[in-house]
Amino acid sequence: MTHIAFIGLGNMGGPMALNLVAKGFSVAAFDLSAEALARLQAAGARAASSALDAVQGASVVISMLPAGKHVQALYLGEQGLFASLPKGTLVIDCSTIAASDARKVADAAAAAGLRMLDAPVSGGTAGAAAGTLTFIVGGAETDLAEARPLLEAMGKNIFHAGGNGAGQTAKICNNMLLGILMAGTAEALALGVKNGLDPKVLSDIMSKSSGRNWALELYNPWPGVMESAPASRGYSGGFMTALMLKDLGLAETTALDSHAATPLGTLARNLYESHAAAGHGQLDFSSILQYFHPQD
Ligand code: NAD
Repeated sequence: MTHIAFIGLGNMGGPMALNLVAKGFSVAAFDLSAEALARLQAAGARAASSALDAVQGASVVISMLPAGKHVQALYLGEQGLFASLPKGTLVIDCSTIAASDARKVADAAAAAGLRMLDAPVSGGTAGAAAGTLTFIVGGAETDLAEARPLLEAMGKNIFHAGGNGAGQTAKICNNMLLGILMAGTAEALALGVKNGLDPKVLSDIMSKSSGRNWALELYNPWPGVMESAPASRGYSGGFMTALMLKDLGLAETTALDSHAATPLGTLARNLYESHAAAGHGQLDFSSILQYFHPQD
């Protein structure tokens, strides 16, 4: 049986690890949050006391952490895992981080005789819970072939984008588009409501018209339009504004480094920056609606 160490059990990592347990994999889990760890333990995972403890006996390590600095600290830091993992271990980082950071970690993995994939995901917390995530993978094809059964336990679509870092580049392009689409969707809904339309009726109309998009149809930002969306539970859970802001920053850095013009991505980053500065960084990113439709 494949023994998996899973590090980072937040909004995404928690349900992903639960799916691995549910599909019969042996999982040792670790998170700094005791509450998150307890949820995994209750489902049948081994609750590890540290990341180092989690990887004991594991042939695969999966991480799902907030940002590049956390990933680098986990693998390359003072007590970084790369110093102690047995040669040949397959390491899969599912966090969204800069492609340059992913390549740096992958190079260090190779130097330590380890195999590394960047495998950021799309599909949100609902996709993580349902096991229908899209994995966007960078790294060697042979390593992806080995990882595939694990990724299939957590997701539905698995894409090989190219070598190490390519998964992150593709993911950043996707999230830049998502940030733009969510802001545009919120702007259009706010305009309609200000002019007397019902947000649900307007959403139905646009969902069957040329303005249709994922944010509108599956993650509607207007409270009450879609019961399962974060907007209908006070913008809790989901994908935090702070994380969207991080991704739009990564897109902007990538654009600067490659001399690409991304005016809409830059505008979206500024919108989410203002929204976060107004104290909404911990709310789901669809709360950008409040920028266009301020609450009394
Ligand atoms: P989150 O903040 O909910 O979870 C991160 C978890 O990592 C937390 O539980 C935290 O305690 C834990 N953690 C931090 N440092 C740690 C350490 N050193 N050791 C162990 N645990 C540690 O974030 P999330 O929403 O689950 O997002 C995780 C990653 O997935 C991010 O890179 C994000 O951009 C990406 N992502 C999120 C979504 C989404 O909808 N939430 C969708 C796609 C991708």
